[in-house]
Amino acid sequence: MSDHALRIPEHLLPADGRFGSGPSKVPAAALEALASSGVSVMGTSHRQEPVKALVGAVQEKLASLYSLPDGHRVVLGLGGASAFWDAATYGLVRTRSAHGVFGEFGGKFAAAAAAAPWLGQPYVGRRDPGTVAWPHDAEDYDPDLVDVVAYPHNETSTGVMVPEVVRSHDSALVVVDGTSAAGGLRLDPTAADVYYFSPQKGLASDGGLWFALMSPAALDRVAEIAASGRHVPAFLDLSLAVANSAKRQTLNTPAIATLFLMDAQLTWMLENGGLAGMAERTDRSAATVYGWAEASAYATPFVADPALRSHVVATIDLSPEGPHAVDAPTVSAVLRANGVVDVDPYRSLGRNQLRVAMFPAVETDDLGALTRSVDWVVERLVG
Ligand SMILES: *Cc1c(COP(=O)(O)O)cnc(C)c1O
Repeated sequence: MSDHALRIPEHLLPADGRFGSGPSKVPAAALEALASSGVSVMGTSHRQEPVKALVGAVQEKLASLYSLPDGHRVVLGLGGASAFWDAATYGLVRTRSAHGVFGEFGGKFAAAAAAAPWLGQPYVGRRDPGTVAWPHDAEDYDPDLVDVVAYPHNETSTGVMVPEVVRSHDSALVVVDGTSAAGGLRLDPTAADVYYFSPQKGLASDGGLWFALMSPAALDRVAEIAASGRHVPAFLDLSLAVANSAKRQTLNTPAIATLFLMDAQLTWMLENGGLAGMAERTDRSAATVYGWAEASAYATPFVADPALRSHVVATIDLSPEGPHAVDAPTVSAVLRANGVVDVDPYRSLGRNQLRVAMFPAVETDDLGALTRSVDWVVERLVG
């Protein structure tokens, strides 16, 4: 019998088998609501009130989820966090940035800044995957020479979270990638000047857009650079994004279904304790998954320091050799054949690992069921 023919008993399986770290689980109820009431906005003009009201509702709910202080704004645009990195090199960095890089995503923003010929070479604080690096860890770091410091709140590729987002520089803008953290990890809204994210991870929506919570200092910087005469492509122009967002619009046609699903998830989050309630949920989920791995003979949390273990994306190494050796890709393939999908590690990390999303939309009970399903599969594979 091929491994893939293993049938996990129904009573062990999670009710919902989507554990991908992005795109991630979209609740079935939100998809049903889209099918039943989406006609009010889908296929209608984004310059008319129904879609503008939807944009405005998402902005207000985000401001409320994060208790945004007066003067902060919720800005949005197209292209996801990847587009935001380029927009930031045009519209937020004056001359030089500093980056904390401890995985794939932090590295991509640093690479975008390094490639921008109008900016000085960025400082890059770099550490091996599995821990955190701060911008000021960079060699020869001179705080007087930087005007943006940047790091991810949660490094989705390695399952490392920054335990607390802190203002790590007095005068530079603090620009934090919250793509997989948003909605699931605690945040002091005054600690970052820009907290940006895509909605297809912690916010249980689809891709295509970026959101940025901007402080007054960040909005001033956007205006200052826009007035400086620097050439900026319109699609990446943050000053146009700020102006359009103030009118509950986007420069070009937004992903309306993405907004619809995000609105549904934000409503659910606010009804269930807001950010504090969501963080308690992900605390419980993390305790379930890491607790299982620590007790297991063949699984170990990849991140050694418990304080850095992400509460929204768990990375679990499986023994590559020895009496408890288990091949992670085989486990993942058996799970997939049983409807439990996307627990594969980030491709470039190259470890014998399972990576499991624990975003607020993922039920803690389903994570427990996942660990029991994995145990069942491994028992049969190892024999
Ligand atoms: C997924 C991810 C991104 C990229 O998001 P896109 O919407 O695909 O551009 C950026 N940063 C982090 C931390 C991510 O997890």
